[in-house]
Amino acid sequence: MSHQRIKAFVLQSKAFGQKDRLLHLLTEKQGLIVAMAYGAASGKSQLKAVTMPFVLGEYEIFSYKDRCTVDRGELVEPFLPISQDIARLTSAAHLSEVTLDALVQGICEEGVYKLWAYSLYELCNGEDPTLSAQISALRLLSDLGYAPWLNDCVLCHEDIDEGAYFGLRESGLICPRHKSDDSIYISYAAISSLLYIVQTDYELLFNFTVSERVRSELLCFIERYLEEKMEKSYSRLKLLEGFDSILKETALCRGADVEDSDDDTDVKRLM
Ligand SMILES: [Zn+2]
Repeated sequence: MSHQRIKAFVLQSKAFGQKDRLLHLLTEKQGLIVAMAYGAASGKSQLKAVTMPFVLGEYEIFSYKDRCTVDRGELVEPFLPISQDIARLTSAAHLSEVTLDALVQGICEEGVYKLWAYSLYELCNGEDPTLSAQISALRLLSDLGYAPWLNDCVLCHEDIDEGAYFGLRESGLICPRHKSDDSIYISYAAISSLLYIVQTDYELLFNFTVSERVRSELLCFIERYLEEKMEKSYSRLKLLEGFDSILKETALCRGADVEDSDDDTDVKRLM
């Protein structure tokens, strides 16, 4: 039986019964903690704001026989823009899904907490939440031991001067001589961006710009890399792409500005 006070990001907050919420909390020193917040879904509860997804809070947690309950909580940072914008919210939900899949409960990876802090800040303020979430997801997998090999050909170690192929099974760059049918072509600019993503300090992680073409390459590469490493397909960002194109089409039909569209309608389905 123990009480502790601990800072954590809410990676996931699921309704449990009528009034309770089950939280997946990311802490710096103890990794993932799963805790029940009784009554948190009721309108009057003081826990309501601190148990929203993607906030940073300081929680009083009571543990007894592997079961944790959140007794109290104070909001440290609500990251409000995330809950107010469907692209930011969906991107955060995607990153959360990858993080929960990649982290083993009870094992602490201190870097992940720091990476989440920089990533949430970027998801709040950056101009391209979709790309930011995928950059974070790739960095997360790399830091957990699944970094792609990007220095030279993973099979013969021949230098790669221009564009190259990437072997998903081999988890690394492949020279033209060794490419197979399922290798993905990847430009030199995209390779440089990937190297930057897996190597740079967290505080500089989002400090680079890419052309629209390289952005598409990165998104496509990271999506397939995640799929290969995690052995599952992540659909949230695809939903967002579909939603985005529907919005654009609707806007074109109406002759309206896409920026003025109401983005809030489909939040529940995406979460
Ligand atoms: Zn080779």
